[in-house]
Amino acid sequence: MAPATARTRVGPYELGRTLGEGTFGKVKFAHHTRTGDIVAIKILDKDQVLRHQMVEQIKREISTMKLIKHPNVVNIYEVMGRKTKVYIVLEFVDGGELFDKIAKLGRLKEDEARRYFQQLINAVDYCHSRGVYHRDLKPENLLLDSHDVLKVSDFGLSAFCPKMNEDGLLHTTCGTPNYVAPEVLDNKGYGGAAADVWSCGVILFVLMAGYLPFDEPNLMALYKKFSIFIAFFHLFLHWIYRADFTCPPWFSSGSMKLIKSILNPNPLTRIKISEILENEWFKKGYKSPDFEKGKEVSLDDVDAVFNDSEEHFVMEKREKPESLNAFGLISKSQVFNLGKLFENDAAAIKRETRFTSRCSPNEILSKIEEAARPLGFNVRQHNYKMRLQGDKTGRKGCVSVATEVFEVAPSLHMVEVRKTAGDTLEFHKFYKSFSSGLKDIVWKSEANAEEEKRG
Ligand code: ADP
Ligand code: MG
Repeated sequence: MAPATARTRVGPYELGRTLGEGTFGKVKFAHHTRTGDIVAIKILDKDQVLRHQMVEQIKREISTMKLIKHPNVVNIYEVMGRKTKVYIVLEFVDGGELFDKIAKLGRLKEDEARRYFQQLINAVDYCHSRGVYHRDLKPENLLLDSHDVLKVSDFGLSAFCPKMNEDGLLHTTCGTPNYVAPEVLDNKGYGGAAADVWSCGVILFVLMAGYLPFDEPNLMALYKKFSIFIAFFHLFLHWIYRADFTCPPWFSSGSMKLIKSILNPNPLTRIKISEILENEWFKKGYKSPDFEKGKEVSLDDVDAVFNDSEEHFVMEKREKPESLNAFGLISKSQVFNLGKLFENDAAAIKRETRFTSRCSPNEILSKIEEAARPLGFNVRQHNYKMRLQGDKTGRKGCVSVATEVFEVAPSLHMVEVRKTAGDTLEFHKFYKSFSSGLKDIVWKSEANAEEEKRG
């Protein structure tokens, strides 16, 4: 075991302070030791995760989540497995929880509540369209970034969340019942979509009212302390089933009508997201998510992540590329970041690749630029890093690529090409044309080596 003073390393990341502790485990601050990228790492106990759950489902959901990129969803960068732990590397969101804001400042003005609600619905709609359901939407899972943009966390992580046992006892605090739809509490088979819509309705209510529509302090205290007994539980259930709540007088009639149609206990007649998007109250001041609007907006969004985390730490002008020692090389050539747990999905979701070159760094960079421009990519350079930004909006927004040149030996450089945004298939297509434009400078690429091995 490492001495207590040593900083804990997880793959290329060094763990820092604890950001929070949740239902699943701890979330820690971490930085990438080479790039300086700042991330949040959620640490789960592997045993607990796998005890009741279907590994296949977890793998599928995580793989899907890794391909999901939306300005209002906390990004999952990678998943690592070590002996007893699962580490989920997440986009670091630094503005705190939306819940804290309400706790501190009380209820929000209608326009502000609507703005967050619109972002929430955009995120939920997007994930649903890719077959991912949240099932544990609540203010604690709504984070704000430094630009006051809403980021939904834990999307797709519900697979990690132990469900109610057959004995009817709720053994964990997976989602407090305040936010959970009646059909979920009742453990009837349920559609994830309608259940998420219900939770969005409760959240909208809380944002505008400053308190919960369905809340009973004593019952909640009990629930939090012990596993709740079925009798208590059904009491609560009856209450929610009656959808017995009143909107405070300051709610506008438009918002009231929308909330009533969301908090409809019957999941079959409950309003659908497509209908919410058409709702007059909802539409006021609506902005569609950034990435759908085209290049300028999307660039800003991606840049916020990219700049904050990387350029912050690489302020000085570099005379030569960062050099990789043996350890750096080894860590780059192992696919440690996908852990044993998710081995089979590694090929499907690969989003970075490397090649080596005998050319000088400047030759390499200008070749990269030459190869990327005709493919419709804008190029920005910072020291020996280059960012390639696609100008076409694809299925998941514009494809964006980060490249960096490393020195391996005085006349040998390694170039890393990493997708930072956009659809992975589109990235692969891009890389195919892109790499053929780089033929002259490539010394030996990993792909070639692999092909040689196979052939
Ligand atoms: P919960 O199970 O209550 O949702 P989590 O385990 O998701 O809790 O997270 C615990 C706390 O850690 C959160 O309430 C939040 O304050 C913080 N946190 C979680 N994810 C992130 C992130 N990506 N960036 C910054 N802070 C985070
Ligand atoms: Mg959470």
